[in-house]
Amino acid sequence: MKFYKIDKAVWSAGLEKLRDHYQLFGPAREGNFSQFIALDDGRGPELDLSNTHLSPKSIVHPQSEVMFEYTLDSTRDDHHVLRPVEKDGPPQAVMGIRPCDAKAFLLVRRNFDAPGCQDPYWLKAYEGVTFVGLACQTPCKACFCTTAGCGPFHEEGLDLLLVQEREHYLVKVITGKGDALLEAAGWDVAPGSDSAHDDMEKMKAAAEAKIQTFVNTDRLKDQVTTDLYDAPFWEDVSFSCINCGTCTYVCPTCWCFDIQDETRGKSGTRMRNWDSCMYPLFTMHGTGHNPRGKKVQRVRQRFMHKLKYYVDKYDGQIQCVGCGRCVNLCPVNIDIRKVCEKMNHYIPQQAG
Ligand code: SF4
Ligand code: SF4
Repeated sequence: MKFYKIDKAVWSAGLEKLRDHYQLFGPAREGNFSQFIALDDGRGPELDLSNTHLSPKSIVHPQSEVMFEYTLDSTRDDHHVLRPVEKDGPPQAVMGIRPCDAKAFLLVRRNFDAPGCQDPYWLKAYEGVTFVGLACQTPCKACFCTTAGCGPFHEEGLDLLLVQEREHYLVKVITGKGDALLEAAGWDVAPGSDSAHDDMEKMKAAAEAKIQTFVNTDRLKDQVTTDLYDAPFWEDVSFSCINCGTCTYVCPTCWCFDIQDETRGKSGTRMRNWDSCMYPLFTMHGTGHNPRGKKVQRVRQRFMHKLKYYVDKYDGQIQCVGCGRCVNLCPVNIDIRKVCEKMNHYIPQQAG
Protein backbone atom coordinates (compact mmCIF):
# COMPACT_ATOMS: atom_id res chain seq x y z
CA MET A 1 0.00 0.00 0.00
CA LYS A 2 1.44 3.39 -0.99
CA PHE A 3 1.41 6.45 1.27
CA TYR A 4 2.34 10.00 0.32
CA LYS A 5 2.33 13.44 1.87
CA ILE A 6 0.92 16.47 0.07
CA ASP A 7 2.03 19.79 1.46
CA LYS A 8 -1.05 21.97 2.01
CA ALA A 9 0.83 24.87 0.41
CA VAL A 10 0.68 23.13 -3.00
CA TRP A 11 -2.87 21.72 -2.69
CA SER A 12 -4.57 24.51 -4.68
CA ALA A 13 -2.03 24.37 -7.49
CA GLY A 14 -2.74 20.66 -7.91
CA LEU A 15 -6.47 21.30 -7.99
CA GLU A 16 -5.94 23.73 -10.86
CA LYS A 17 -4.09 21.07 -12.86
CA LEU A 18 -6.81 18.54 -12.12
CA ARG A 19 -9.37 20.82 -13.76
CA ASP A 20 -7.69 20.05 -17.12
CA HIS A 21 -8.50 16.36 -16.67
CA TYR A 22 -11.60 16.14 -14.47
CA GLN A 23 -14.77 17.94 -13.63
CA LEU A 24 -14.29 18.49 -9.92
CA PHE A 25 -16.92 18.28 -7.19
CA GLY A 26 -16.57 18.95 -3.50
CA PRO A 27 -18.33 19.99 -0.32
CA ALA A 28 -19.35 23.63 -0.12
CA ARG A 29 -21.37 25.95 2.10
CA GLU A 30 -24.27 27.75 0.51
CA GLY A 31 -25.65 30.05 3.20
CA ASN A 32 -26.70 27.86 6.12
CA PHE A 33 -26.77 24.83 3.87
CA SER A 34 -24.02 22.56 2.66
CA GLN A 35 -23.83 20.13 -0.21
CA PHE A 36 -21.53 18.82 -2.92
CA ILE A 37 -21.28 21.18 -5.88
CA ALA A 38 -19.35 21.37 -9.15
CA LEU A 39 -16.19 23.28 -8.27
CA ASP A 40 -16.21 25.82 -11.07
CA ASP A 41 -14.61 29.27 -11.12
CA GLY A 42 -11.54 28.17 -9.21
CA ARG A 43 -13.54 27.22 -6.13
CA GLY A 44 -11.96 24.55 -3.92
CA PRO A 45 -13.60 21.93 -1.70
CA GLU A 46 -14.34 23.12 1.85
CA LEU A 47 -12.59 20.37 3.70
CA ASP A 48 -13.36 21.78 7.16
CA LEU A 49 -17.05 20.87 6.72
CA SER A 50 -18.27 17.78 8.50
CA ASN A 51 -21.13 15.83 6.90
CA THR A 52 -22.88 18.01 4.33
CA HIS A 53 -26.66 18.37 4.59
CA LEU A 54 -27.16 16.68 1.21
CA SER A 55 -25.09 13.65 0.35
CA PRO A 56 -23.11 13.54 -2.93
CA LYS A 57 -25.46 10.93 -4.45
CA SER A 58 -26.70 13.44 -7.02
CA ILE A 59 -23.30 13.41 -8.77
CA VAL A 60 -24.12 9.90 -9.98
CA HIS A 61 -27.91 9.96 -9.68
CA PRO A 62 -29.07 13.53 -10.48
CA GLN A 63 -32.24 14.81 -8.86
CA SER A 64 -33.63 15.25 -12.38
CA GLU A 65 -32.12 13.49 -15.35
CA VAL A 66 -33.14 13.40 -19.00
CA MET A 67 -32.94 9.81 -20.26
CA PHE A 68 -34.61 9.96 -23.69
CA GLU A 69 -35.86 12.51 -26.21
CA TYR A 70 -38.68 12.08 -28.69
CA THR A 71 -40.67 14.01 -31.24
CA LEU A 72 -44.36 13.88 -32.05
CA ASP A 73 -43.76 15.59 -35.39
CA SER A 74 -45.17 13.05 -37.87
CA THR A 75 -43.26 14.66 -40.76
CA ARG A 76 -40.06 13.24 -39.24
CA ASP A 77 -39.05 9.64 -39.81
CA ASP A 78 -38.19 9.18 -36.15
CA HIS A 79 -41.47 10.43 -34.73
CA HIS A 80 -42.65 8.53 -31.64
CA VAL A 81 -39.20 6.95 -31.27
CA LEU A 82 -37.33 7.27 -27.98
CA ARG A 83 -33.74 8.39 -28.61
CA PRO A 84 -31.30 7.86 -25.70
CA VAL A 85 -29.59 11.08 -24.65
CA GLU A 86 -25.81 10.86 -24.96
CA LYS A 87 -24.11 11.38 -21.61
CA ASP A 88 -20.48 11.69 -22.59
CA GLY A 89 -18.57 14.15 -20.49
CA PRO A 90 -15.16 14.50 -18.87
CA PRO A 91 -14.17 12.15 -16.06
CA GLN A 92 -15.28 13.46 -12.70
CA ALA A 93 -13.52 13.57 -9.36
CA VAL A 94 -15.13 14.10 -5.98
CA MET A 95 -12.66 15.81 -3.69
CA GLY A 96 -13.24 15.28 0.01
CA ILE A 97 -16.03 12.72 0.05
CA ARG A 98 -16.55 11.19 3.48
CA PRO A 99 -15.99 7.42 3.79
CA CYS A 100 -19.66 6.78 4.63
CA ASP A 101 -20.84 8.49 1.44
CA ALA A 102 -18.37 6.51 -0.67
CA LYS A 103 -19.51 3.22 0.87
CA ALA A 104 -23.13 4.28 0.29
CA PHE A 105 -22.56 4.19 -3.48
CA LEU A 106 -21.59 0.53 -3.16
CA LEU A 107 -24.82 -0.28 -1.33
CA VAL A 108 -26.83 1.55 -3.97
CA ARG A 109 -24.88 -0.13 -6.75
CA ARG A 110 -26.40 -3.48 -5.82
CA ASN A 111 -29.73 -2.08 -6.93
CA PHE A 112 -28.54 -0.46 -10.16
CA ASP A 113 -26.22 -3.33 -11.11
CA ALA A 114 -28.55 -6.24 -10.39
CA PRO A 115 -28.00 -9.26 -12.67
CA GLY A 116 -30.24 -8.91 -15.73
CA CYS A 117 -31.47 -5.50 -14.64
CA GLN A 118 -28.62 -3.06 -15.00
CA ASP A 119 -29.06 0.68 -15.16
CA PRO A 120 -26.65 2.03 -17.80
CA TYR A 121 -27.10 5.66 -16.73
CA TRP A 122 -26.16 5.08 -13.09
CA LEU A 123 -23.36 2.64 -13.88
CA LYS A 124 -21.73 4.80 -16.53
CA ALA A 125 -21.85 7.83 -14.27
CA TYR A 126 -20.45 5.90 -11.30
CA GLU A 127 -17.61 4.33 -13.26
CA GLY A 128 -16.54 7.78 -14.50
CA VAL A 129 -15.93 9.14 -11.00
CA THR A 130 -12.73 9.08 -8.96
CA PHE A 131 -13.45 9.31 -5.25
CA VAL A 132 -10.95 11.18 -3.12
CA GLY A 133 -11.96 10.51 0.46
CA LEU A 134 -11.38 12.62 3.52
CA ALA A 135 -11.16 10.73 6.81
CA CYS A 136 -13.51 11.91 9.57
CA GLN A 137 -11.19 12.79 12.41
CA THR A 138 -14.01 14.47 14.35
CA PRO A 139 -17.15 12.44 13.65
CA CYS A 140 -20.54 14.11 14.15
CA LYS A 141 -22.56 13.38 17.27
CA ALA A 142 -25.30 11.51 15.39
CA CYS A 143 -22.91 9.29 13.39
CA PHE A 144 -23.11 5.57 14.06
CA CYS A 145 -21.00 4.40 11.13
CA THR A 146 -18.90 1.89 13.06
CA THR A 147 -21.96 -0.25 13.76
CA ALA A 148 -23.39 0.27 10.26
CA GLY A 149 -20.63 -1.56 8.38
CA CYS A 150 -18.54 1.56 7.86
CA GLY A 151 -16.20 3.84 9.81
CA PRO A 152 -14.46 7.22 9.84
CA PHE A 153 -11.45 5.87 7.90
CA HIS A 154 -13.36 3.21 5.91
CA GLU A 155 -11.81 2.63 2.48
CA GLU A 156 -14.43 0.68 0.48
CA GLY A 157 -15.51 2.74 -2.53
CA LEU A 158 -12.58 5.17 -2.29
CA ASP A 159 -9.70 5.62 -4.70
CA LEU A 160 -7.60 7.77 -2.37
CA LEU A 161 -7.94 8.52 1.33
CA LEU A 162 -6.70 11.84 2.71
CA VAL A 163 -6.05 12.47 6.38
CA GLN A 164 -5.56 16.04 7.57
CA GLU A 165 -2.39 16.78 9.43
CA ARG A 166 -1.18 20.22 10.46
CA GLU A 167 0.96 21.10 7.44
CA HIS A 168 0.04 18.40 4.97
CA TYR A 169 -2.37 15.67 3.93
CA LEU A 170 -1.33 12.10 4.52
CA VAL A 171 -2.56 10.20 1.44
CA LYS A 172 -3.22 6.49 1.08
CA VAL A 173 -3.48 5.23 -2.49
CA ILE A 174 -6.23 2.61 -2.72
CA THR A 175 -6.77 2.06 -6.46
CA GLY A 176 -5.21 2.73 -9.85
CA LYS A 177 -7.74 5.52 -10.38
CA GLY A 178 -6.33 7.17 -7.30
CA ASP A 179 -2.80 6.82 -8.65
CA ALA A 180 -3.87 8.40 -11.95
CA LEU A 181 -5.43 11.37 -10.18
CA LEU A 182 -2.28 11.97 -8.14
CA GLU A 183 -0.24 11.95 -11.32
CA ALA A 184 -2.63 14.35 -13.08
CA ALA A 185 -2.47 16.77 -10.15
CA GLY A 186 1.31 16.88 -10.39
CA TRP A 187 1.61 17.48 -6.67
CA ASP A 188 5.19 17.27 -5.55
CA VAL A 189 4.31 14.39 -3.27
CA ALA A 190 6.74 13.11 -0.70
CA PRO A 191 6.66 9.41 0.08
CA GLY A 192 5.03 8.71 3.43
CA SER A 193 7.45 7.77 6.18
CA ASP A 194 7.99 4.15 7.16
CA SER A 195 5.56 4.70 10.00
CA ALA A 196 2.78 6.11 7.73
CA HIS A 197 0.69 2.95 7.96
CA ASP A 198 0.98 2.79 11.75
CA ASP A 199 0.34 6.53 12.06
CA MET A 200 -2.85 6.19 10.04
CA GLU A 201 -3.99 3.20 12.08
CA LYS A 202 -3.51 5.23 15.29
CA MET A 203 -5.51 8.15 13.92
CA LYS A 204 -8.20 5.73 12.76
CA ALA A 205 -8.47 4.19 16.23
CA ALA A 206 -8.65 7.66 17.79
CA ALA A 207 -11.46 8.69 15.41
CA GLU A 208 -13.42 5.48 15.99
CA ALA A 209 -13.15 6.02 19.74
CA LYS A 210 -14.98 9.35 19.29
CA ILE A 211 -18.11 7.76 17.80
CA GLN A 212 -20.75 8.22 20.46
CA THR A 213 -23.73 6.23 19.21
CA PHE A 214 -24.24 2.68 18.06
CA VAL A 215 -26.92 0.39 16.73
CA ASN A 216 -27.37 -3.31 17.32
CA THR A 217 -28.10 -5.14 14.08
CA ASP A 218 -27.09 -8.68 15.04
CA ARG A 219 -30.65 -10.12 15.27
CA LEU A 220 -32.19 -8.40 12.23
CA LYS A 221 -31.45 -11.24 9.83
CA ASP A 222 -32.97 -13.86 12.12
CA GLN A 223 -36.15 -11.93 12.78
CA VAL A 224 -39.18 -13.28 10.93
CA THR A 225 -40.19 -10.74 8.30
CA THR A 226 -43.92 -11.03 8.98
CA ASP A 227 -43.35 -10.68 12.73
CA LEU A 228 -41.57 -7.37 12.20
CA TYR A 229 -44.12 -6.29 9.61
CA ASP A 230 -46.98 -6.91 12.07
CA ALA A 231 -45.15 -5.53 15.11
CA PRO A 232 -47.26 -3.17 17.22
CA PHE A 233 -44.63 -0.40 17.39
CA TRP A 234 -45.18 1.00 13.88
CA GLU A 235 -48.08 3.23 14.92
CA ASP A 236 -45.88 4.77 17.61
CA VAL A 237 -42.85 5.13 15.31
CA SER A 238 -44.87 6.79 12.56
CA PHE A 239 -47.18 8.93 14.72
CA SER A 240 -45.28 12.22 14.37
CA CYS A 241 -44.06 11.75 10.78
CA ILE A 242 -45.28 14.48 8.43
CA ASN A 243 -44.21 12.61 5.28
CA CYS A 244 -41.95 15.47 4.24
CA GLY A 245 -39.50 13.10 2.52
CA THR A 246 -36.43 14.82 4.00
CA CYS A 247 -35.01 11.57 5.37
CA THR A 248 -35.03 9.98 1.93
CA TYR A 249 -33.71 13.00 0.02
CA VAL A 250 -30.73 13.50 2.32
CA CYS A 251 -29.93 9.80 2.58
CA PRO A 252 -26.96 8.58 0.51
CA THR A 253 -28.45 5.07 0.34
CA CYS A 254 -31.99 5.97 -0.82
CA TRP A 255 -32.48 5.68 -4.56
CA CYS A 256 -36.23 5.80 -5.31
CA PHE A 257 -37.17 7.58 -8.51
CA ASP A 258 -40.10 8.18 -10.81
CA ILE A 259 -40.06 8.40 -14.61
CA GLN A 260 -42.19 10.97 -16.41
CA ASP A 261 -42.62 12.27 -19.94
CA GLU A 262 -42.48 16.04 -20.39
CA THR A 263 -43.95 17.17 -23.70
CA ARG A 264 -43.83 20.71 -25.04
CA GLY A 265 -45.50 21.16 -28.39
CA LYS A 266 -44.16 18.34 -30.50
CA SER A 267 -40.92 17.81 -28.55
CA GLY A 268 -40.58 15.70 -25.51
CA THR A 269 -38.18 14.26 -22.98
CA ARG A 270 -38.44 11.24 -20.75
CA MET A 271 -36.97 12.17 -17.37
CA ARG A 272 -36.37 10.47 -14.12
CA ASN A 273 -36.66 12.40 -10.90
CA TRP A 274 -35.94 11.51 -7.32
CA ASP A 275 -39.03 10.28 -5.54
CA SER A 276 -39.67 9.14 -1.99
CA CYS A 277 -41.39 6.12 -0.49
CA MET A 278 -42.66 8.53 2.17
CA TYR A 279 -44.97 10.25 -0.34
CA PRO A 280 -48.55 8.97 -0.69
CA LEU A 281 -48.49 9.05 -4.49
CA PHE A 282 -45.31 6.96 -4.74
CA THR A 283 -47.25 3.69 -4.79
CA MET A 284 -50.52 4.95 -6.29
CA HIS A 285 -51.64 2.49 -8.99
CA GLY A 286 -53.34 3.53 -12.22
CA THR A 287 -56.49 1.90 -10.87
CA GLY A 288 -56.60 4.32 -7.94
CA HIS A 289 -55.65 1.56 -5.49
CA ASN A 290 -52.78 2.49 -3.19
CA PRO A 291 -51.13 -0.34 -1.25
CA ARG A 292 -49.36 2.15 1.00
CA GLY A 293 -52.02 4.82 1.32
CA LYS A 294 -51.54 5.23 5.09
CA LYS A 295 -48.64 6.99 6.74
CA VAL A 296 -47.88 4.05 8.99
CA GLN A 297 -47.49 1.81 5.94
CA ARG A 298 -45.01 4.18 4.34
CA VAL A 299 -42.90 4.68 7.45
CA ARG A 300 -42.86 0.92 8.02
CA GLN A 301 -41.77 0.40 4.40
CA ARG A 302 -38.81 2.75 4.74
CA PHE A 303 -37.47 1.02 7.82
CA MET A 304 -38.35 -2.51 6.70
CA HIS A 305 -36.52 -1.91 3.42
CA LYS A 306 -33.39 -0.54 5.07
CA LEU A 307 -33.24 -2.81 8.07
CA LYS A 308 -34.85 -6.08 6.99
CA TYR A 309 -35.51 -6.60 3.26
CA TYR A 310 -32.04 -5.35 2.23
CA VAL A 311 -30.40 -7.28 5.06
CA ASP A 312 -32.07 -10.51 3.92
CA LYS A 313 -31.44 -9.92 0.22
CA TYR A 314 -27.75 -9.23 0.57
CA ASP A 315 -25.25 -10.22 3.21
CA GLY A 316 -26.63 -8.96 6.47
CA GLN A 317 -25.51 -5.37 5.78
CA ILE A 318 -28.18 -2.79 6.58
CA GLN A 319 -29.06 -0.32 3.82
CA CYS A 320 -27.58 2.49 5.86
CA VAL A 321 -24.03 3.69 6.47
CA GLY A 322 -24.75 5.51 9.72
CA CYS A 323 -24.10 9.01 8.38
CA GLY A 324 -26.65 10.46 10.80
CA ARG A 325 -28.24 12.87 8.29
CA CYS A 326 -31.80 11.63 8.73
CA VAL A 327 -31.31 11.72 12.51
CA ASN A 328 -30.17 15.34 12.39
CA LEU A 329 -32.64 16.61 9.80
CA CYS A 330 -35.97 14.90 10.47
CA PRO A 331 -38.18 17.79 11.63
CA VAL A 332 -39.98 15.60 14.15
CA ASN A 333 -36.94 13.70 15.45
CA ILE A 334 -37.71 10.24 14.17
CA ASP A 335 -34.47 8.40 14.83
CA ILE A 336 -33.42 5.36 12.78
CA ARG A 337 -31.13 4.24 15.61
CA LYS A 338 -34.09 3.83 17.95
CA VAL A 339 -36.19 2.10 15.29
CA CYS A 340 -33.32 -0.28 14.55
CA GLU A 341 -33.11 -1.20 18.24
CA LYS A 342 -36.85 -1.89 18.32
CA MET A 343 -36.61 -4.10 15.25
CA ASN A 344 -33.45 -5.88 16.36
CA HIS A 345 -34.73 -6.74 19.83
CA TYR A 346 -38.36 -7.37 18.95
CA ILE A 347 -39.92 -10.46 20.49
CA PRO A 348 -43.38 -11.22 19.09
CA GLN A 349 -46.16 -11.81 21.60
CA GLN A 350 -47.44 -15.37 21.56
CA ALA A 351 -51.11 -15.66 20.58
CA GLY A 352 -53.48 -16.86 23.31
S1 SF4 B 1 -37.84 13.31 7.69
FE1 SF4 B 1 -39.05 12.62 9.46
S2 SF4 B 1 -41.06 13.62 9.18
FE2 SF4 B 1 -40.01 13.74 7.20
S3 SF4 B 1 -40.72 11.88 6.10
FE3 SF4 B 1 -38.80 11.33 7.13
S4 SF4 B 1 -39.44 10.42 9.09
FE4 SF4 B 1 -41.21 11.56 8.28
S1 SF4 C 1 -30.71 6.00 6.80
FE1 SF4 C 1 -30.11 7.95 7.77
S2 SF4 C 1 -28.20 7.46 8.88
FE2 SF4 C 1 -28.56 5.78 7.40
S3 SF4 C 1 -27.39 6.36 5.56
FE3 SF4 C 1 -29.53 7.14 5.29
S4 SF4 C 1 -29.46 9.27 6.07
FE4 SF4 C 1 -27.60 8.22 6.82
